[in-house]
Amino acid sequence: MQAPDPLGPGNGSRSSQRGVVVLGCTGSIGETTFQVLDNLAKQDQSLHVVALSAGGRIERLIELAELWRPEAVCIAVPEDRQRVQTALPDCEVFCGEDGLRALVQLDGVDVIVNGLVGAVGLEPTLAALEMGRDVAMANKEPLVMAGGLVLDHANKSGARILPVDSEPSAMWQCLRGERTQDVSRLILTASGGAFRGRARSELKQVTPEEALHHPTWSMGPKITIDSATLMNKGFEVIEASLLFELSVDDVEVVLHRESIVHSLVEFVDGAILAHLGRTDMALPIQYALTEPSRCAGPLAPLNLAEVGSLHFEAPDLAEFPGLALCYEAGRLGGSTPAALNAANEEAVAAFLAGEVGFLDIHSINETVLSKHNGQDAPDLDSILAVDAWARGQARSTISTYS
Ligand code: MG
Repeated sequence: MQAPDPLGPGNGSRSSQRGVVVLGCTGSIGETTFQVLDNLAKQDQSLHVVALSAGGRIERLIELAELWRPEAVCIAVPEDRQRVQTALPDCEVFCGEDGLRALVQLDGVDVIVNGLVGAVGLEPTLAALEMGRDVAMANKEPLVMAGGLVLDHANKSGARILPVDSEPSAMWQCLRGERTQDVSRLILTASGGAFRGRARSELKQVTPEEALHHPTWSMGPKITIDSATLMNKGFEVIEASLLFELSVDDVEVVLHRESIVHSLVEFVDGAILAHLGRTDMALPIQYALTEPSRCAGPLAPLNLAEVGSLHFEAPDLAEFPGLALCYEAGRLGGSTPAALNAANEEAVAAFLAGEVGFLDIHSINETVLSKHNGQDAPDLDSILAVDAWARGQARSTISTYS
């Protein structure tokens, strides 16, 4: 049996006008997606932008819409509707979560780049997959919180989940053409985030500004904090195990401070295939949009002689207890990862708001998880109920800290 390919085989044919929706267009993934679209347009691989969504930065949304001329946009709050409609008179303006669902279901949409942050990405992902539309997933939370449901939706309609997160994208590329039974484990690389090499006792007083200073990747604030706690890596363990149908214990994390090797796959004969490239999301985004073909990239190729040397080390689970918590949630499966994701979103928001300390993020997550009664194979309503319950529990725990 071939290794699970969330994409299916891919047929290699690409019309020059596939319709794309960019969700979260003013965030880090969104902005990089436009660099990629620009680059592809120069190579006659242009995608037609059907719709854009933005949770904030309305002026930037308007600029992007003037440039890419979508037929619809979606904004987060109704207060911005008048401003956006006046600036974009030819554009249909949707709003809120219903608007996100409507956007991915518009006629002429072939692929959705999901650059949303957090749980808000779940329902539009399900709506897109249900319609048979491929989703290029940078937003890992939908898979973490509702992996079974997301994969079921894709399997039923034949839609594909195209990994955009750099590590699953790297694994997917290493696995193409390989057989499942030949894989012994997936090796997920982690930069170690802002505080790698720092003792846990030194982290009690660190500020959001320090935690937001990622050594190698430039990303949005939520994922940068998740990198500093290694929760992002733990979520990627769950994400990879779902996408490639292996147990979380077959996914090993290795610290790799240069972020040049984006992940690796080990086979039963001991061979390891690695994916190397620049530390830039343009590469996995472009691959998701052009696969199985490749087009010239927007960046200069990696110069290995300039990189010089690469380092790998085992993560210290005592230093990064969030990683162990994610393995535990991944083993339990069912509704447990959804509870952990929701608690973590609340805890990170509280840390960024200065309400709790950096180490409290883990304590909050652990407290909520210890109270959660897991359910097997939850449906969407159950997942949303668990999400709401875990947020409430997290907030009441947070209130005891401040
Ligand atoms: Mg990643």
